Amino acid sequence: MNNCLFCKIINGEIPSRKAYEDDKILAFHDINPQAPTHILVIPKCHIPSMDGVNAENADLVAYLLTKIPEIAGAAGLSGGYRVISNCGPDACQSVAHLHFHILGGAQLADKMA
Ligand code: AMP
Ligand code: ZN
Repeated sequence: MNNCLFCKIINGEIPSRKAYEDDKILAFHDINPQAPTHILVIPKCHIPSMDGVNAENADLVAYLLTKIPEIAGAAGLSGGYRVISNCGPDACQSVAHLHFHILGGAQLADKMA
């Protein structure tokens, strides 16, 4: 996906503050944090959104999910954290590359929407 912002971050065309990286996933700090710690976790393979999760990429998505506690722990989120994936216009998804927000570092609002 040539025109995808997060694919450009993956290939280094756009800089990011990395929190974790391996051959399958990348985690980096959100440019407009909505909590004291706000990290985005993305697969290196382009999947447009949660709607693009299927049997073929489920192993990759499951792998990404298993890494979230490790990434949150390394970021010091010992008090807990919230994981969100916005999908589609009603959820205000603004970047069409599957991503999981990790939010924490403070008491979060008890309402999610
Ligand atoms: P969403 O609205 O769920 O699609 O989330 C997209 C997120 O990407 C937003 O929280 C943005 O602040 C974040 N974002 C956009 N551009 C960048 C960037 N260059 N580096 C880091 N985060 C970004
Ligand atoms: Zn992409």
